[in-house]
Amino acid sequence: MKKDLHCEKCLMPIECRDDLVTVWAFFKIRPYHEACYAHSLKGAATLFVGNTPINGFSGNVTAIAAFLFMWIPLFTDLTLGITVIGSLVVLTRMYSFIRFEKKMPL
Ligand SMILES: [Zn+2]
Repeated sequence: MKKDLHCEKCLMPIECRDDLVTVWAFFKIRPYHEACYAHSLKGAATLFVGNTPINGFSGNVTAIAAFLFMWIPLFTDLTLGITVIGSLVVLTRMYSFIRFEKKMPL
């Protein structure tokens, strides 16, 4: 069963993974076209749409860094809050991949 993914901004289907940008906004991960994401950043929506995409190169780097940092408090006196936030970042990245990106053709 193939479920089409629709852009939250223009409501058109998103065709391929290259055109997909997932963003954390209003307590939910939302899919956008790359162009719609870039455009909405320039408008008033900037206040409400997180300006860091979850997927793509920067999202992967953030997730890897968070994954590494989340172990540090287990071996030091640093607060466990880092572990909690790190886990959330990694889980968000995984959720975005499973929920949206895995279904898209490359
Ligand atoms: Zn769109």
